[in-house]
Amino acid sequence: MTNNPDLYLQFFHNNCNAFLIMQNKKIIECNDSIVNLFNYNTKKDIIGGFSFILFPKHQPNGMSSVVEFHKILNSVKNHCSKTFNFVCIKNNFIEFEAEISINKYPSGNDILSFISIKCISDFTYDKQLLQSEQFKNYIDVSSNYFVALDNTGKINFINKSLGSILANEDKYLIGKNWFDIALPFDDRISTLNIFNDLISGNMKENEQIYAQSLLTKTGEKNIVMWSNSILKDEKGSIIGILSSGHDITDKLQIQRQLMEVETNFQQLLEYINEIFWVKNIGNSNLLYISTAYEHIFGKKWDCKNGIDDFFASVHPSDLNNVKSSYEKLVKMGSNSKLEFRIIKPDNSIRWIYSRTFPVKDAQNKIYRILGVAEDITKRKNLQDSLFKMATTDYLTGSYNRQHFIKTAEGYISYARSTNESVSFLMLDIDYFKKVNDTYGHSIGDEVLKRLVESCVAVLGENDIFGRIGGEEFAILLTGYTKKNAYRIAEKIRKKIEKLDLKIQGHIINTTISIGMSMLSEIQCEDDCIRCLLNTADKALYKAKNTGRNKTVIYSSTME
Ligand code: GH3
Ligand code: MG
Ligand code: MG
Repeated sequence: MTNNPDLYLQFFHNNCNAFLIMQNKKIIECNDSIVNLFNYNTKKDIIGGFSFILFPKHQPNGMSSVVEFHKILNSVKNHCSKTFNFVCIKNNFIEFEAEISINKYPSGNDILSFISIKCISDFTYDKQLLQSEQFKNYIDVSSNYFVALDNTGKINFINKSLGSILANEDKYLIGKNWFDIALPFDDRISTLNIFNDLISGNMKENEQIYAQSLLTKTGEKNIVMWSNSILKDEKGSIIGILSSGHDITDKLQIQRQLMEVETNFQQLLEYINEIFWVKNIGNSNLLYISTAYEHIFGKKWDCKNGIDDFFASVHPSDLNNVKSSYEKLVKMGSNSKLEFRIIKPDNSIRWIYSRTFPVKDAQNKIYRILGVAEDITKRKNLQDSLFKMATTDYLTGSYNRQHFIKTAEGYISYARSTNESVSFLMLDIDYFKKVNDTYGHSIGDEVLKRLVESCVAVLGENDIFGRIGGEEFAILLTGYTKKNAYRIAEKIRKKIEKLDLKIQGHIINTTISIGMSMLSEIQCEDDCIRCLLNTADKALYKAKNTGRNKTVIYSSTME
């Protein structure tokens, strides 16, 4: 029982004794029995109130009951208990004599008082109710177990639900010794000790609530939570005990099964490559994180520094993204997906894909977040290389025709929206066939590579370069005047003209011809890139036909 807070809760709320808990002078919790005993409607009428709930008017002797009660309350030392008789007053102003037990415990700066209140007044109408047929029926059909024993341990009364699991005929049980008939041999001594303490008055009723095995007629052992009341005769002598219990066998079994499932599940989580983590909203610490974290991050989860230690692993370029996503997650607990890089203690960089899922309570309020994170470095590298393969030319590393056109289209539509000028250059190596014929195809390849490097070195960050044919290249320039774009073209052309390419002992000189076109100078409604390619091609053709190694700007006379 001590490991299961749920049972304590049940005990508190389902108990026929009236319980309340006070924090300093304020009532912070109570059970339904208090509500009934004091004739209130709901717990809400009591919780949050002060002790005048128990004494809504002054005592007849003129002394306020509240003051009197607090005198006694104050006199109880921490960790001690005190039981005293007191006159309480119901909400409908009916007085009754109560036995009040107070147990006091310090809790931080506060004092918690656990108070049990038992009516000891002799109410004739209560007696009538308790002796009524309905009450007898209730006792019999109640799923709770009730048994009354005399002071030798013989069964005087047993209700139907308890009788039926012990024997086929419950009449057979009357007069039999409870301990012999209902308890497994090993448990008898300890229970007899409790019984003897109760009968001799050494133990107060309900002082001990305990779980015990019950030997059923089929030989199974059921687990029952028991509490005991003492039965007295008119003179006040103890004549037996009344035990009430409830069967927790199924509950324990479900708990055991749940624990088993939980253990299996936990083992599963430990074997899986993904990191699983669980966190409550409003609490910075994690409830659980699987050991995959250690493998993926190259270090243990730091319980002390928690999320800050995690942030320390995140790649600086992704840190802002990760932090803002985390803040959103903590605030709103929303579903999220995020890719980011981490740097492991060995300085290797890994890609992580993280997903989170909110968990809601019965009121549909998010109270917990589940997270899964995996190392996607391999997938990411493959994706990157596939992307590279699909977008670049393997020989020169520049954009291929398709990707150049797609990227250029994006740049052009942006430049048009901001009224920036767009210039387009088309480059073709002069007499390249000759290079191949003279030095061979592989040296021709090397020439192509070196020429591309030289061209790209002249360009700025926003200028885009692509290989659009075998030895034909294109450059898109945005934001340059016609004069400046022409200057760049000429800079490239002159640089290549002066270049002495040393390849495998040869010194190779080449020149290029350039056709240039300005978007602002051509008739073009849409598909600008096609218009630019066409017009620059015409200018290039003119450059080739008028001596090569020159830049020619397109004009409409070329049509
Ligand atoms: P011009 O342009 O000045 O008129 O003369 P050209 O000799 O360069 O003529 P053209 O542009 O028609 O010839 C292209 C040549 O480029 C033909 C082909 O052998 C060569 N070429 C195309 N792609 C490659 C390549 O990837 N590697 C090598 N080595 N050569 C290539
Ligand atoms: Mg060509
Ligand atoms: Mg050529």
